[in-house]
Amino acid sequence: MKSPVRMLLATSCALAMIATPTAAWSAEQPKPTAKAASKAKPAPKPVPVDCAKVKCIALTFDDGPGKYADKLLDTFKKYNSKATFFLEGQYVKSRPAFAKRMVAEGHDIGNHSYSHPHLRELSEDKIREELTKTQDIVKKSTGKYPTTIRPPYGEFDQRVAAIAAEMGMPIVLWNGGSRDWATRNEKAIYDEVLKNAKRDGVILMHDWVEQTVKVMPKLLTALQKQGYHMVAVSSLRGAKTTKAGEVYPVGSEKDEDLTSESPTGDPDDFAESPEDGS
Ligand SMILES: [Zn+2]
Repeated sequence: MKSPVRMLLATSCALAMIATPTAAWSAEQPKPTAKAASKAKPAPKPVPVDCAKVKCIALTFDDGPGKYADKLLDTFKKYNSKATFFLEGQYVKSRPAFAKRMVAEGHDIGNHSYSHPHLRELSEDKIREELTKTQDIVKKSTGKYPTTIRPPYGEFDQRVAAIAAEMGMPIVLWNGGSRDWATRNEKAIYDEVLKNAKRDGVILMHDWVEQTVKVMPKLLTALQKQGYHMVAVSSLRGAKTTKAGEVYPVGSEKDEDLTSESPTGDPDDFAESPEDGS
């Protein structure tokens, strides 16, 4: 079934691409402060991964920092792998230490709004407020601004794309789901990710789903056995040349399963206590 929403997205995207973006992915963002860097434990010497030469995949985690983020970061460290976290400002406020650790350990941070609204239903002022508040709190907590936007539910329109362009950030969606929020089952999550894994794929997961965090060592082992290098989205082929306001991966906005891969049901189901893990 071809949804009108999807068509609208495709049209909006095309329009957004006509507009001259003001900055690219690699736009100069303030560097982490020396203070933030010095507090982190000495990281193992990073081994640069060239995704033009080796098989890469990007695992991405939305709605965090979730209460299990610390454990997830331990796993990624152990496997010498990188992830991308699309953070909600409200949880960065309650768990600043987790956000700080993500940046210190070399993971990508993206903006997932402040309170997870449907951006298309908001005024332009409100959209800007949701995104700007999150930029500011991430900067305050980690010393670094997010460099990409992933709109909640993967929903955006021409106005959101124009604001992303204005803010100098590409829109990052995904081209493979895990359905972790729906199944909450380790084996189901493992099977779904391996089914959807492909070179330069971007997989959607959630660090508030306990089973996702629990199955991660097994999943990273399996992906490494298949020859994958787990990298942050910005390391994937074509990512760095994606312009502000444009969508990465190319064509992902036309995926008809997009919104079905994002929690849209009971919001209480994934609301978290702000006290947890902070
Ligand atoms: Zn979300």
